[in-house]
Amino acid sequence: MAHSSGMIVQTGGSRPHVAYIMNALADTFPNIIWKIGGKVDRTTWGGGFSAHSVGRACDIYLDAGDPVDKRLGDLLLETFATHGYNFKVDHVIWNGQIWSRSDGGPSGYTGSGGAHRDHVHVAFVDDQLDILPFAFPWILEQYVLRRFVVDGAAADRSDGLYGKAFDPKKPNVRLSRKKRHATMLKKMGMTGAK
Ligand SMILES: [Zn+2]
Repeated sequence: MAHSSGMIVQTGGSRPHVAYIMNALADTFPNIIWKIGGKVDRTTWGGGFSAHSVGRACDIYLDAGDPVDKRLGDLLLETFATHGYNFKVDHVIWNGQIWSRSDGGPSGYTGSGGAHRDHVHVAFVDDQLDILPFAFPWILEQYVLRRFVVDGAAADRSDGLYGKAFDPKKPNVRLSRKKRHATMLKKMGMTGAK
């Protein structure tokens, strides 16, 4: 279903622990994340088992080619790795890097699904995933949001200075920063201003 920001957050079919983390991410970064995917009935590209098929994985869509998106993706990879044991993470993949419970990391990743330059993939272990991770929003704020807003441009997008990032009439369509900036100028009566 759509988050109040308009972002598509596919929590249907995901285990409660995973759905809770997806919603916390959408609540904290409503203007940055493009969408969050969850349960999908499929195998991996190579035909192997995918944690998505049993509601134990989520995909946080960000563009590694955009400096602001990349900053958030990097912080999420680091945080899911650092707090992986607390939050029952099995492995996390982003932008050519992987951390896993079994092998540690982050280290270089060239496996299934490619380098993951358009989303952070997080899979969880099958252990008590009906219990909600109430500490997760706090961890997000302390270890991700606080460091993310250090950069001025990131702060603009994080607090929605330019307005909501999603077109209210077309959920799942994220507006460009340029478009949002133009809308803000129009609202301020500054259309055409240089
Ligand atoms: Zn995935």
